[in-house]
Amino acid sequence: MRNIMLFIWLLAPALSNAEPLQVFVSVLPLKTFVEKIGGNSVTVQTMVQPGDSPHTYDPTPKQISALAKTDLYVLTGVPFEKVWMERVRSANPHMKVLDARVGIDLRTIEHHEHETVHNGQQQDKAHDPGHFNDSERDPHIWTSPPLVKQMAKNIRDMLTELDPAQGQAYEDNYAAFAAELDTLDRDIRALLKEVNNRKFMVFHPAWGYFADTYDLIQIPIEQEGKEPGARALTELIKQAKRENVKVIFVQPQFNKKSAEQVASAIGGRVVAIDPLSPDYATNLRKMAQLIAEASQ
Ligand code: ZN
Repeated sequence: MRNIMLFIWLLAPALSNAEPLQVFVSVLPLKTFVEKIGGNSVTVQTMVQPGDSPHTYDPTPKQISALAKTDLYVLTGVPFEKVWMERVRSANPHMKVLDARVGIDLRTIEHHEHETVHNGQQQDKAHDPGHFNDSERDPHIWTSPPLVKQMAKNIRDMLTELDPAQGQAYEDNYAAFAAELDTLDRDIRALLKEVNNRKFMVFHPAWGYFADTYDLIQIPIEQEGKEPGARALTELIKQAKRENVKVIFVQPQFNKKSAEQVASAIGGRVVAIDPLSPDYATNLRKMAQLIAEASQ
């Protein structure tokens, strides 16, 4: 009898549905990716909520205390993480931190802010240790399905390390998600195949990896993370005319005033699309569709 009890006790953790892993991510698309791989074995919370910008975000005290009960933080190198990562880590020294960018060649962002402005002060990059110090690197990696596949691999490997009993499930989920990403990639290529004008204008340059992957060029209106001045705006209007731009993409986290000024000067229109949408695949298909339509 004692042996049987011991046997049951040993098996218990594997038999009972273990508590889901508590995961924190920076932005909503990442939540989608972790849930794709983790399924019911994870509970995912997101730092940057809908409508917030990851460029100026401050975690809430509630989030900081929730981090104390978190098993894993998945980072993507968005600007608030450069400022907050030390505090995020110190909220819970036992928490694993996965840099989802492992294995990905980071592009340099065009005309992006060079420093992260936090509480009105310029952060000193030199005081930011580790690999979070490169603010020239474009953090918007999730706009490229092939790169998301690499992120998904990184997520699969980390979840497997934390919860080896679910290793096969994570592997299967990864395979299914990778197949979805391949389909998405093929669909986007097909949508953009006949597009002659490969340039598109955006307020905030969040679509760089998307552009690189699909042989497009994004022209940002934002200058160094700010609204353009009068002279820069005049230049942008000239450029938009020269490049035959018809549509300017804006995202809800940023003011669309200067985008509207350019659009009215060129007789074009402003279209809202949110690169931070959790409905990842639909959103990317929509972006490809809009670019294809704009070039007609
Ligand atoms: Zn951004």
